[in-house]
Amino acid sequence: MLRGLMMDQPLLISSLLTHAAQNHGDTEIVSRTVEGPGKDGKGALHRYTYAQAEARARKLAQALSRLGVKAGDRVGTFAWNGYRHFELYFGVSGMGAVIHTVNPRLFPEQLTYIVDHAEDAYVFFDLTFAPLMEKLAPACRAVKGWVAMTDRIHMPQISVPNLLCYEELIAPESGRYEWPLLDENSASGLCYSSGTTGAPKGVLFAHRSTVLHAYASSLPDVFNCSARSAILPVVPMFHVNAWGVPYMATLNGAKLVLPGAGLDGKSLYELFEAEGVTTTAGVPTVWLGLLAFMRENKLKFSTLKTAVVGGSACPPAMITEFRDAHGVDCQHAWGMTEMSPLGTLCTLKGKHLALPQDKQFEIQVKQGRAICGVEMKIVDGEGRDLPRDGKAFGDLMVRGPWVLREYFKGEGGDPLREGWFPTGDVATIDADGYMQITDRSKDVIKSGGEWISSIELENIAVAHPGIAEAAVIGVPHPKWDERPLVVAVRKQGANVAREDMLEFYKGKVAKWWIPDDVTFVDQLPHTATGKLLKTKLRQDFKDHEWPAA
Ligand code: AMP
Repeated sequence: MLRGLMMDQPLLISSLLTHAAQNHGDTEIVSRTVEGPGKDGKGALHRYTYAQAEARARKLAQALSRLGVKAGDRVGTFAWNGYRHFELYFGVSGMGAVIHTVNPRLFPEQLTYIVDHAEDAYVFFDLTFAPLMEKLAPACRAVKGWVAMTDRIHMPQISVPNLLCYEELIAPESGRYEWPLLDENSASGLCYSSGTTGAPKGVLFAHRSTVLHAYASSLPDVFNCSARSAILPVVPMFHVNAWGVPYMATLNGAKLVLPGAGLDGKSLYELFEAEGVTTTAGVPTVWLGLLAFMRENKLKFSTLKTAVVGGSACPPAMITEFRDAHGVDCQHAWGMTEMSPLGTLCTLKGKHLALPQDKQFEIQVKQGRAICGVEMKIVDGEGRDLPRDGKAFGDLMVRGPWVLREYFKGEGGDPLREGWFPTGDVATIDADGYMQITDRSKDVIKSGGEWISSIELENIAVAHPGIAEAAVIGVPHPKWDERPLVVAVRKQGANVAREDMLEFYKGKVAKWWIPDDVTFVDQLPHTATGKLLKTKLRQDFKDHEWPAA
């Protein structure tokens, strides 16, 4: 082999922040805090720059060393999107330890399992989660200290062993600290997959995979991130690193706006407007809330250009509302924790620009094209490749440098099939490379030996003007094995009836796809990451009585 003669410089997370501090030193990071109200009655806004963030991340790294945290040790966080969490992202990974972002919305038993399994040496938490820490602490005996992410005057009165104060922890440090030159394959972050079934499993990111993912997500056909962007991740920093946005913003020197706990429509809208946000990202449920608030109050966005929507299927009606009411490009994205998480994003190609809007829309509702670095294929039940014709659907397999090879501590054995990671999603891929998820493999409705896509039926339900949210599940049926049942939430003031809904499906799907029944509920159950909790719905409706044919 003739080796290339380029420098062997590792790809490190610390280098992203050093770059931002040197080249975008005065670019702002704005955060809504959780420590008492600001002038508007909500969490006060904190603002500082990349240069200041880097200086504090270095002090944090020194403080962690002083506490005895070593390379490879895990440091847990229970925190919103905010500047101290940002410092932990870089300070913990930068010094060689592993930041373990915990999703506080999980059940307490899952949380103690996760903290225990990860063997977190220290746990950092926002004040919101102080009562939760008190509840978890007795069962998390390996944790050496619990650090409240606040200053002395806001310290919570809780009883946990070795309660520390973040600001006091970093205050005595000099900040004269050189980021260590780590192996780029060393672990940087840990995140447990949402665990809708079975015990949650740890996905262990590396410096290399994280930096490559940050480069790839910046691309024009992905987040189109630059030093002119102001980006607000609504997706929490405890859900697959806010889809990598904090790393990507830092790599580009983009202004970063962190919404804290204020995820309701009003708080978000005000922050978007006040900070001139151009780009945002989050799951469909948050946009349902924000768009409804804007509709009710006749509000418009003045700076927002792009909203990336993923985590679950983006209802087509959301794409049109963003476009027609607000002139915002709503881009559908797909990924998973095991993929750091980005796999695809949906943007048009040059040849599509001359198409009429309805034809463009047929493309935009898909989950999108693979981001270079991610390879995708679909296979049948025997593992044979299926054609990329936009029609055949099968199990979606992926591979790439930011895709998981193995779960933390080997949990669950070897997850790969001949070098490919089976996503558990069922999809089509068309000749242009656009992938469309038709279902989660366990959610697909099996009727008379054929498959019906629950996502497609849900998309139609929420396109009805009287429906706020809907889930479609397969319910046991004496003749067809399973038939689709719509479980829907009406919009406020709407009185849409079962018959209206069934009528609404006519002409939109094959006759045998039309659901057999509709039932209305006040709200739908969601997982800790905002996905519809269909396992619960299937349980709740397993004895559903079908109307007489
Ligand atoms: P998580 O690891 O919690 O991010 O969950 C990953 C799973 O969420 C994927 O395997 C999909 O089933 C689902 N998912 C993510 N994005 C989308 C999307 N745009 N459309 C449909 N399902 C999605």
